[in-house]
Amino acid sequence: MPKRILITGGAGFIGSHLSRRLLDEGHEVLCVDNFFTGTRANIEDLLDHKRFELMRHDITFPLYVEVDEIFNLACPASPVHYQFDPVQTTKTSVVGSINMLGLAKRLKVPILQASTSEVYGDPHVHPQTEDYWGNVNPIGVRSCYDEGKRCAETLFFDYRRQHNLTIKVVRIFNTYGPRMHPSDGRVVSNFIVQALRGDNITIFGEGSQTRSFCYVDDLIEGFLRLMATPDEVTGPINLGNPNEFTIRELAELVLDIVGGNSKLVSRPLPKDDPKQRKPDITLARETLGWEPNVQLRQGLERTVAYFDALLSDKAS
Ligand code: NAD
Ligand code: UDP
Ligand code: UDP
Repeated sequence: MPKRILITGGAGFIGSHLSRRLLDEGHEVLCVDNFFTGTRANIEDLLDHKRFELMRHDITFPLYVEVDEIFNLACPASPVHYQFDPVQTTKTSVVGSINMLGLAKRLKVPILQASTSEVYGDPHVHPQTEDYWGNVNPIGVRSCYDEGKRCAETLFFDYRRQHNLTIKVVRIFNTYGPRMHPSDGRVVSNFIVQALRGDNITIFGEGSQTRSFCYVDDLIEGFLRLMATPDEVTGPINLGNPNEFTIRELAELVLDIVGGNSKLVSRPLPKDDPKQRKPDITLARETLGWEPNVQLRQGLERTVAYFDALLSDKAS
């Protein structure tokens, strides 16, 4: 049955992929975005699509629309962007979630929250399971994002307990792919853009910190499977790739794919930078029959091809 689906943050990296996937499945998409980190270019080819509608709107303000389902993705995701206006970041997660939950409550429709592995902070449990409560600094530079997302989870579960809403909470681990913002400062886009330009590759700290990188198509598949589950499946549920790499290994892999003469250089490690991160995806495997299919090299090759075309376009 085709539905009318609201995606907040629909012009962002993940939102633009989700928009395409839902349109391909025959749904109508209402994309709501304030264009803080999202761009028109991300959804340019969708603007003429007869089932796609774009609305410029900041979700910290109330939103009155009619839809059958909500994916709440609005929130800057890269440290550089979420620390640019930290109060707005917290507002987006907290006030924005209240508004979107109020909307879901009035319409009696399911709502999915794009939460994050950052709710685990600098974790003492490795790999991270959903029942781990995390190790988060409440007053640091990352707190606007981490605590905002934690509070959003609280709101989702309180709306469920208090108003019996159908909620789905996904804890997304580092996800990458085409249409990441070239200057958003995240490690995958940074390394690829640096390698393509022949600039130095900036390793923060020793590069021994670890992350696990999920290709965006795999993540979107997990979103759709979770949204299709019965009411009682609420999450939180980890979605991410359980293969763990050091940041130095990632840099070497990117260089191997791109070639060129870039050198690895050290830069200071940002404050509160988590030392390790890797999802335990047992719950996603068991509940959704989901696991990632795209290996890091394959996903990086596709992402490199995207950035290569983007940078050549800009240069011409
Ligand atoms: P992104 O920055 O590309 O997308 C976020 C989108 O939200 C942008 O289009 C931005 O303009 C929009 N936005 C921000 N504040 C808004 C507001 N107040 N009102 C309306 N729109 C607003 O980031 P992304 O990687 O696509 O992330 C999407 C979601 O997934 C975010 O909620 C993020 O926290 C979460 N997430 C992403 C990752 C990842 O690795 N990419 C990891 C964990 C969680
Ligand atoms: N809200 C919204 N769209 C709606 C319904 C509600 O943006 O269709 C907002 C509204 O501004 C409200 C918030 O969601 O402040 C929370 O709504 P809820 O009904 O939970 O609480 P209340 O209206 O009592 O504040
Ligand atoms: N990082 C790096 N060089 C960069 C950008 C990031 O070494 O140019 C490191 C960063 O310190 C962190 C990891 O890569 O340890 C992932 O950073 P990102 O900002 O992508 O996401 P995070 O997982 O920290 O939210």
